[in-house]
Amino acid sequence: MAIGHTWSVAVLGIDGRVIEVEADLGGGLPSTKLVGLPDAGLREAKDRVRSAVRNSGQQWPGEKLTLGLSPANLPKLGSGYDLAIAVAVLAAANSVPATRLPGTVLLGELSLDGRVREIRGVLPGLIAARNAGMKRAVVPEQSLFEAVLVEGLDVFGAACLADVVAWLKGEASLVRPETAAESAPPKVPDLVDVVGQPEARWALEVAAAGGHHLLFTGPPGVGKTMLAKRLPGLLPRLSTEEALEVTAVHSVHGSLSQASPLVTVPPFVAPHHSVSVAALIGGGSGLASPGLISRAHCGVLLLDEACEFSGAALDSLRTALEDGEVRIARSKGSVRYPARFQLVLATNPCPCAPPRETECTCTPTAIRRYRNRLSGPLVDRVDIQVRMRPITAMTSHTEESPEPTAVVRDRVMAARERAAARWSTHGWRTNAEVPGPVLRRQFPLPSRATALLDRSLHQGHLTARGADRCLRVSWTLADLFNLPEPSADHVAAALEFRDRTAA
Ligand SMILES: [Zn+2]
Repeated sequence: MAIGHTWSVAVLGIDGRVIEVEADLGGGLPSTKLVGLPDAGLREAKDRVRSAVRNSGQQWPGEKLTLGLSPANLPKLGSGYDLAIAVAVLAAANSVPATRLPGTVLLGELSLDGRVREIRGVLPGLIAARNAGMKRAVVPEQSLFEAVLVEGLDVFGAACLADVVAWLKGEASLVRPETAAESAPPKVPDLVDVVGQPEARWALEVAAAGGHHLLFTGPPGVGKTMLAKRLPGLLPRLSTEEALEVTAVHSVHGSLSQASPLVTVPPFVAPHHSVSVAALIGGGSGLASPGLISRAHCGVLLLDEACEFSGAALDSLRTALEDGEVRIARSKGSVRYPARFQLVLATNPCPCAPPRETECTCTPTAIRRYRNRLSGPLVDRVDIQVRMRPITAMTSHTEESPEPTAVVRDRVMAARERAAARWSTHGWRTNAEVPGPVLRRQFPLPSRATALLDRSLHQGHLTARGADRCLRVSWTLADLFNLPEPSADHVAAALEFRDRTAA
């Protein structure tokens, strides 16, 4: 009797767990048995692995073979364990020495002819392997560009099983990654291209400074999308931890760029309004793959023509906005994907959406119904609402040359630093994250500053939630003007950032 041990990684969502593969040979007629919650994909694996082994010039053992994957309670989907299974069988049969196996994770799917094929989720898998104390990893050669991002792990690339066999025997070496090239950050569109709309530009700056969700209402062609696309350029670069987390989501999704795999700038994602709930929040067969809101993690999610999205799609955003992540339940277990993004909603004022509002042919009821699609819990989380008007020849003429992103960004960064310093003991980084009761009770403003707010509340023009939104924005305005706390003017200006046109 002989046993071979190898290690691989199971990736659930973007969380990885090291898996031990055991191959036990002997004591019976030739047969192969899998134990440890194997799914259909894994049952196919034994046939695939057998062909790959034979086609790599190795012998498949002519004895009873039992394959176990542990821990047994973890769903092990997909084909990423092929390489680990093949090597475990070869080690059990003494076809390869086991010296290099302890501390090594083996990742990759095998094709029938023995080639090692690319799999998704190599980055989160290797992060988990390193955190579990593994020292080396053998990955598909095509995944080296991504594997090299994980520090503290010795990474090797394999093109085929025969290469891995030769490496284990000490007869040949595997491909080593080139050190991750410092790639220039991708170009993001600049605010200097946006003509006019001073109010909306200012709203964008305030939203960037405070991390506030934002709603643009205005006729087609006024530049709502153009402005929203420029928000990522105003946000801080991702921290190392954020960059790895965002890259892990994109790795599991299979959408990493080979040229610059590490995502270092806030992503920008703009789904079409016909998007399905599954595509938006994540789904698919087996264990769900990440949705668009997770691909917008640490970046900006723009819902253009927001009123055209289905009610179910808009509703599905709520949990993510509250928790910063989504959990998708499946019969095989639930997966978690991070989804903390800054939301920009853009909408026409009415369903007929004429370039000039005076040409609108909608009935008041139709307009109300249209706008109500965005009402309630979703808009409750949007601190800033702006009405945009068409650019006239007059306004575009009198406008001074627009400020570029770099200039605005400096003010945003300074304001963000002030906010982060104020909230650091509470664990918040932006004003938008601070709950209303904390703002009201622990950071009360003098009554001369809040007089206007109190009056609006008293007269019923403003709800308590509306007042909280106003307070959060007031703090951001104070931060942008480098003042210790908001004044009555800031509160008044924050009140202006509400949809005064709502019916
Ligand atoms: Zn209309």
